[in-house]
Amino acid sequence: MITRRVPSFARRLDEVRYLAFLGAFLMAGAVLLGSPGQTATGRSSASPPPVYPPPPLNPTGVVLETRALSEGVYALLSNTPFADNEGFIVGRDAVLVVDSGFNGRIGQQILDSVRRVTDKPIRYLVNTNAFGDHNFGNYVFPATTKIVSSRRTFDSLRNTTKTEIATRMAATVDNDLSVFDGVTLRLADETFDEHWSVDLGGRRVEAHFFGPGMSPNDTVVYVPDAQIAWTANLIFGAGTIPWVQSSGVATYRATLERLARALEIKTIVPGHGALTGGGTIETYLRYLDAIKAMAEQAVANRLSVDEFISTATVPSSFQIAPSLVPLMTGAHRRNLERAYRDADVRER
Ligand SMILES: [Zn+2]
Repeated sequence: MITRRVPSFARRLDEVRYLAFLGAFLMAGAVLLGSPGQTATGRSSASPPPVYPPPPLNPTGVVLETRALSEGVYALLSNTPFADNEGFIVGRDAVLVVDSGFNGRIGQQILDSVRRVTDKPIRYLVNTNAFGDHNFGNYVFPATTKIVSSRRTFDSLRNTTKTEIATRMAATVDNDLSVFDGVTLRLADETFDEHWSVDLGGRRVEAHFFGPGMSPNDTVVYVPDAQIAWTANLIFGAGTIPWVQSSGVATYRATLERLARALEIKTIVPGHGALTGGGTIETYLRYLDAIKAMAEQAVANRLSVDEFISTATVPSSFQIAPSLVPLMTGAHRRNLERAYRDADVRER
């Protein structure tokens, strides 16, 4: 007969400290470990914390495909399932680029991609969030390019260093920190609180911050006359679910509702994953409602968080891209844990 040892309180405390220590080195985009199991009734469970696969963001070997989505509107799509996508918009007078990639090599690929299409000046570069995979390529852009970000993204980057970001995101690049050789942080020249827009010459481009979602500061870049949006980490590509990383389920939902109300979107260029349609916003809202209901049921049934999440898979009513099943299963379990804790608090 096998007896399960229940860890002593002191050992549990060590585990909590260890997780807190790890947590300090891991941020969104990196490996996330579940916190120690805690039941709805406050008892501790003895199972080890789950380990989830990190998002595979390694830029080495990434080749960006330039895809024309509309006259003057181009997506730059990664040839791997989840490394970053970027893009650019060409007006009569100037070019605006969306995100600069995870290092100088990707940044240079973006510049080269623009130059194959137009020789107009790249006057603007919008960074959609403060994670390095969206802005580490900033430094290779010309000094004449004005970098724009939300104030939240700017503040987040101002209070950290390249080394800190790289260390936190090491797991996403297979722990090969040499991919960041040469990177220097270059911060935005212009910031905005909620909305910013520019006329590139007969072509208007907008940037919006609708609230926290996957990251605390994801910005949506929108081309109104083409109804095309870059959604950063707020909405991943076709066959994904959201990752409720930086805010609760309710906050993420409110952010998506503001987005849905404000913009008419036909095509989404996600920060990660394949191109998708505007209907993905509705799918994400439906998913968030589903996990909220599931978590409330689990708490009402007195399931422990481990029992609730450890073998959970994404409900079949949400289609997951085959190559992203392990990653999205991990995201789903993290989301369930988040939803469970929210529901557990409401229950008390
Ligand atoms: Zn991202």
